[in-house]
Amino acid sequence: MGTEAGPRILLLGGTSEAMELANLLSSQSGGLRVVTSLAGRTRNPAPVPGQVRRGGFGGAAAMADYLRDEWIAAVIDATHPFAAQISANAAQACEQTGVPRLLLRRPEWLPVEGDNWIICPDMAAAAAKLPGTGSRAFLTVGVQELAAFSGLADIRFLVRLIEKPEQELPLAEYELVIGRGPFDEAGEQALLKKHGIDVLVTKASGGAATQAKLAAARALGLPVIMVERPPVPPGPAVETPAEALNWLRKELRS
Ligand code: NAP
Repeated sequence: MGTEAGPRILLLGGTSEAMELANLLSSQSGGLRVVTSLAGRTRNPAPVPGQVRRGGFGGAAAMADYLRDEWIAAVIDATHPFAAQISANAAQACEQTGVPRLLLRRPEWLPVEGDNWIICPDMAAAAAKLPGTGSRAFLTVGVQELAAFSGLADIRFLVRLIEKPEQELPLAEYELVIGRGPFDEAGEQALLKKHGIDVLVTKASGGAATQAKLAAARALGLPVIMVERPPVPPGPAVETPAEALNWLRKELRS
């Protein structure tokens, strides 16, 4: 790694998988150069090996310019399953420029025996479902999605966020808990009990770090309102950083 002669890869990040892949790539020989791109939303992101750029590109056409200007040989879109805009932009920019693109997306959570999941297509549907399902909701959908729940004056929310928000949340009645995974089942059960939670509202992010809340809800017999993932752009996709590395090796050989 690290010679200036090797191909340059753009890794669209902001997830633990992107971090894992950046670590994997930094330990490879062969002169690959990796640029991890972060949206810049997190105030204190964990350090990433290799080069890092922060902030939006300015849309799909501007990302296409970036790919040309920076001589990017391949793009790996390892963004979060709910970051639909950047994935759509990457698909469009790569199509315009002919740069190969891979989607690295963690597997979905699957319901198991004892789960009571109410699957909703989007946040608005989840908010509409909530009043008939519970009155004290544990809401773990991310700060950007809270507005969908703002009209629910009779629900008391426990909202978990990764970072302390800079502004009041757009909810009538809420309590805040700040925490970054991984979480464990015992801790999640204790949290649900302490706050008298009767329903969990979450999105189908997948991943081990935040899965324990689902086991905790199951153990306590609580319903889970689960918002489905948005669709992904067509094209090659893998589920693990190791598979992404294999794809990259093949792609750069051909
Ligand atoms: P989004 O709605 O898909 O993207 C909105 C805009 O933010 C994009 O059009 C792009 O701006 C910029 N952007 C997003 N990801 C970027 C990246 N990796 N590098 C450079 N610019 C990026 O994305 P989002 O849902 O706000 O998520 C933002 C970031 O947080 C993503 O990197 C994602 O992996 C991470 N994340 C998201 C969630 C979630 O639940 N959505 C959870 C955990 C982590 P321009 O159009 O100007 O290029």
